[in-house]
Amino acid sequence: MSAKIISGTETAKAIREELKVEVAELTEKHNIVPGLVTILVGEDPASQSYVAAKNKTAHALGIHSEQVTLDADTSEEDLLALVEKYNNDDKINGILVQLPLPKHIDDNKVLTAINPDKDVDGFHPINVGRMVLGEKCFLPCTPHGVLELLARSGTETSGAEVVVVGRSNIVGKPMVNLMLQKRPSGNSTVTVCHTRTKDLTFHTKRADIIIAAAGVPKMITADMVKEGVVVIDVGVNRIGKAASGKAILAGDVDFDSVKEKAAAITPVPGGVGPMTITMLMKNTVQAAKQAAGLI
Ligand code: NDP
Repeated sequence: MSAKIISGTETAKAIREELKVEVAELTEKHNIVPGLVTILVGEDPASQSYVAAKNKTAHALGIHSEQVTLDADTSEEDLLALVEKYNNDDKINGILVQLPLPKHIDDNKVLTAINPDKDVDGFHPINVGRMVLGEKCFLPCTPHGVLELLARSGTETSGAEVVVVGRSNIVGKPMVNLMLQKRPSGNSTVTVCHTRTKDLTFHTKRADIIIAAAGVPKMITADMVKEGVVVIDVGVNRIGKAASGKAILAGDVDFDSVKEKAAAITPVPGGVGPMTITMLMKNTVQAAKQAAGLI
């Protein structure tokens, strides 16, 4: 059996089309243009390309986007002042500070300084708390994208044994919480694995759904999964350079072998990656509607 490929590229495209219509309606009927600012500190090439992709996508959807690039030696105080400026800017509904920040800046301090109503990355403790309680909030973009992939591929999550590999604050932990929620795309029985897990294969082998977010290239192999599993591969690992100079990417899953046993699987690239940016746009539109009292 060869798995159905769950295409993040196609799913993201469909959601972007929906968002484009929503943004056009907001602009025409309510004179609202959702606004997003991305703040990048330093010159990390991966961060530069993520930020560029976010601004390009925003622009294509009719979202007003601003990009601020600061020197790597920008002080924490100056960054906090900039965040505060955008907290008070009515044109801006979403503020995204690209992580990682240089070592001399405290990530948590900066993320907590963002107005929770503009926290379109969903990292502010208030939004994290609301998410855990199942209240209205901005869901963190990558786990939100995984939920959409599961829902739109028709994957039944209710009662499913879900194994999440990874427990980071941005992917693993929120993923676990969302799969647990008592609502559609949740209601799963969830196991979370990490580097101290004694027998990873014991857990992955009994999973109906595996969500891999460990950052270890091709670590989930065919012998670790059961027939008919649904695999969502969040991992993005640079494993070399092509002759063109472009990075060669691999997920956390050994796609070629696992696809022969899985019922459905996401590729890397073209899986979760495009969904993350799209969910950022969805959150920005949600923020604009909330600010206008429309939802
Ligand atoms: P982190 O490094 O912050 O967390 C990795 C987690 O995986 C940790 O909890 C770690 O356990 C666990 N882990 C690492 N190695 C193993 C192992 N051998 N067995 C079991 N668990 C393991 O990474 P992130 O959560 O930020 O990202 C994970 C991956 O997802 C990366 O490849 C990243 O590039 C990708 N990513 C992709 C996104 C997208 O849009 N597609 C967005 C964000 C991330 P412990 O806690 O014990 O250290």
